[in-house]
Amino acid sequence: MIISMKPEATTEQIEHVCEKIRSYGYIPHPIYGETRTVIGAVGSGNNRAALQALEGAPGVESVVAIRQPFKLVGRELKPQKSTIRVGEVVLGSHQFVVIAGPCSVESREQIVATARAVRAAGATILRGGAYKPRTSPYDFQGLEEEGLKLLAEARETTGMRVCTEVMTPEQVELVERYTDILQVGARNMQNFALLKRLGKAAKPVLLKRGLSATIKEFLMSAEYIVSQGNPQVILCERGIRTFETMTRNTLDIAAVPLLNEISHLPVVVDPSHATGKRSLVAPMAKAAVAAGADGLIVEVHPNPEEAWSDGAQSLTFQEFELVMEGVKKYLPLEQKHL
Ligand code: PEP
Ligand code: MN
Repeated sequence: MIISMKPEATTEQIEHVCEKIRSYGYIPHPIYGETRTVIGAVGSGNNRAALQALEGAPGVESVVAIRQPFKLVGRELKPQKSTIRVGEVVLGSHQFVVIAGPCSVESREQIVATARAVRAAGATILRGGAYKPRTSPYDFQGLEEEGLKLLAEARETTGMRVCTEVMTPEQVELVERYTDILQVGARNMQNFALLKRLGKAAKPVLLKRGLSATIKEFLMSAEYIVSQGNPQVILCERGIRTFETMTRNTLDIAAVPLLNEISHLPVVVDPSHATGKRSLVAPMAKAAVAAGADGLIVEVHPNPEEAWSDGAQSLTFQEFELVMEGVKKYLPLEQKHL
């Protein structure tokens, strides 16, 4: 339910309503707007009639139901777009945020050289996996803590913020110590134990859409994190599995404006995993800008031919520079800048 307070409602009246909501078995989520406060009453309580009756409480203007199942991440409760700050960078603003780097952290030279190159081309956040969710158990699984240390070194030498994947609830504490953004991979989008644990984390979470997840399922996963207390979730469209075999996945470009319509969370696009093909990254990056994305996450490697994972979709430094040049031309059309 959404309890809208009158513009002149006092702090005591707002606190009183929150207290009532708690007493009915729901959790109050107040959102303090410029002119009024609205309070979302969310949870598994079954006393909707009591919530409805709050219409008569002092300072309350109206009580209406939230129709969508994603209560906290939807626009019904919070119509204005959310912004998420990562150092100097603000996702969900006019700033277009580019996260770039290798699929996996492989060595000091590899990660530092990539960080320097992508930063020079306009990226502000460095990506690199230290824990890799691989389809085959015989494939490279990541450098683990050693990889996190190398990422931290690259962060130190270049000043870039970093984004890296976390695969289990047990890893969160360690990964959080080294990274600025905690990435949830597509294969873990419905790892509910992980999502709940990330809801207790203090850092933003980049949540990737599952391989076969509907938009509703995607947003329900975001709801898991936000409902546990962490409002900093970035949605990532990274392609979904379809009947098409010429691309690794099918980029659901319509998901971007749709997510923007129904959710207030920032949305980024991953044209690398969405296509699996180096040549398709540039056009899909431009499509992401046109569709209203808040940023990109792109795989870049000093020598893609020798990459330990995802070489076919990774860009050379020069190719990444060209992608950025293309993107920069499109940004002003969408009132965005790097
Ligand atoms: C990755 O970012 O390298 C990755 C494994 O992506 P996804 O989870 O989208 O497949
Ligand atoms: Mn990858």
